[in-house]
Amino acid sequence: MKKNYLTLLLIALAMLQNINLPAQDSSANPFLKIKPLAFRFQALPLSAITPGGWLKTELKRNLDGFTGRLDTLAPDLIQQDDIYGKDRLSKKVKNKNLGAVSDAGEWQAQFLWWNSETQSNWLDGFIRTAILLKDKTQLEKAERLINRLLQTQDKDGYIGIYDPELRYRFDNENGELWSKATLYRALLGWYDYKKDPALLTAIEKAVKNVMDNYPVNQSHPFYSVNPDAGGLTHGLAFTDVLEQLYVLTKKQAYLDYCLFLYKDFSTQTLNEDAQFKKLQQADLPLKGHGVHTYEHLRSVIAAWYASGNPALKPAIDQFIRKINRATTPSGAPVGDEFAGGRAGDATSTGYEFCSLHELMAGWISLLEKTGDPDYSDRAEKILFNAAAGATHPDQSAICYLKTDNTYILNGGKHGDTTDKHQTRYRYSPVHREAAVCCVPNAGRIGPWYIQHMWMKDQDGLVATLLGPSELNTTLNGKKVQITTVTGYPFDMDFRFRIYTTEGNRFSIKIRKPGWAIAVYTSTPFKEENGFLVFKKRWKQQDELIIRFEAAIQKNQTNGDEYYFQYGPLVLCHPLNSTEVITKTYTIAGLTDFNCLPLKETVVELNGALPVQDATVKNHFHAEIKPAGTDQPEVILLVPMAGTTLRQVTFKMKGQ
Ligand SMILES: [Zn+2]
Repeated sequence: MKKNYLTLLLIALAMLQNINLPAQDSSANPFLKIKPLAFRFQALPLSAITPGGWLKTELKRNLDGFTGRLDTLAPDLIQQDDIYGKDRLSKKVKNKNLGAVSDAGEWQAQFLWWNSETQSNWLDGFIRTAILLKDKTQLEKAERLINRLLQTQDKDGYIGIYDPELRYRFDNENGELWSKATLYRALLGWYDYKKDPALLTAIEKAVKNVMDNYPVNQSHPFYSVNPDAGGLTHGLAFTDVLEQLYVLTKKQAYLDYCLFLYKDFSTQTLNEDAQFKKLQQADLPLKGHGVHTYEHLRSVIAAWYASGNPALKPAIDQFIRKINRATTPSGAPVGDEFAGGRAGDATSTGYEFCSLHELMAGWISLLEKTGDPDYSDRAEKILFNAAAGATHPDQSAICYLKTDNTYILNGGKHGDTTDKHQTRYRYSPVHREAAVCCVPNAGRIGPWYIQHMWMKDQDGLVATLLGPSELNTTLNGKKVQITTVTGYPFDMDFRFRIYTTEGNRFSIKIRKPGWAIAVYTSTPFKEENGFLVFKKRWKQQDELIIRFEAAIQKNQTNGDEYYFQYGPLVLCHPLNSTEVITKTYTIAGLTDFNCLPLKETVVELNGALPVQDATVKNHFHAEIKPAGTDQPEVILLVPMAGTTLRQVTFKMKGQ
């Protein structure tokens, strides 16, 4: 009997363990909510920060160019398809369209939601740019567009692209969540500016309609019979909307829904890199459509913070390692269009402009949540090098795809003409032949960077991303204005002019970039976690002067080549080219054009580090020794920003 009692006791203990363990063990259930994590920094509303200097000039150029005019450059996609209104997709439209393209394969169904992405991502960049520039005419236009979209809201709250007979009833590719993610992000941007409670109510009602029809933990919004479902899986970016609504309302249900979406996305059979079980596999490289993969980083981070589940942290670490492997010297992640398991390479792996915005926003999300300034360096690297290097210096036009080393731009990669329809490797303000996705995102990347240049923490203000700007906010109930005068990243001097009520005590933390080898300041500071901390009672008018010092850095690529970085700027040897117009538009002289090399040469450097020019800022000289001669020649190196054809990575003699 005694033995039996003991056995029973052991069985009872084991049962208790069995009952307790799965509920407690987060590794058994990575989607278990434990305790949501607090953000280290708080982002500020869009209207708190206005751009100055070159950032303002760049936004103005976009507003006068493709960002301000895309609706007239592609009127059939943007103005004439009222996809959220009278042209919502119904079974009839679907049958008709599928009938017309039935031989082209199932992927054609994506085109049914495509215009919603084009319209809404364009609108998002357009209204944010108009807000940041305080452009009265464009703000009036933005208001008209927003009001028209709000009028499409059904009584039950639905704002979307499907008729009642189709909505929420999918077992395959669809744009239900994606068409909403893109539009509601734009609406939230407008709310940041207008602060109209009726607008927030409309957005919340629209999101409630989603949560009612895809009930949390009782539905499968990511179920698809076809594992390749691009619009469906883009829809995971709905977490962007949910996170922003949580910031505005503090309603926990929005964060819980983020976790649910990531859980359902991870559980379904889908060809997507960001699924939890794939992230756990260290030797599984990124293979999917690049844009999806990089935008999904934010959703995994959202799920981690919404749950506080420690099992998600190693998955994110693994995700970052995989992205690191896929990244080129300019900070761009491979994706032309698919990642295809490749390591980032300056010559062979192209990257899509959309991916630049999406990954930069991912790094900024990690920065806001963890406070780790390494993510600032990553975000800056993408904007100042990859993005600025895919943007034409004078014309309002971008490359849809580009490589770091670019020797020709005439449609195909490095002049490849085997695919006659490949037009992505050239400049255009539309890229109509490929897809109107990258140009809208080229209008979003600048505003997103600008909005996150300053954040708050419990002590005061944090300059997280650097550049010329004016911040207007309140601290301790008192107004604070900080004007940042700088040419950064093209120079390293900063003058912060601070205006507040006399005696307002708070800290100003300025991020010390990872590349800075020295820092000089007008006021004593303490260095904490990669930030220079200035804590004092500020005078009514105060000032901080800071100078960072950089040294030229020599970095090895994934292969046997090297590239050079000065501060945040990746350097390249610019190649002379001639521009050949391939298409003209009737608007403002905008054109599509190729860049053809005048002389195609790939050079090899001597072993020495490049030397800074004595008079011209950010110009460097490097020595090469052309084959067949002992006479060294000197070539120019400049920042990648604004270059068209260029060589970024170099073989070096003797190394
Ligand atoms: Zn794109």
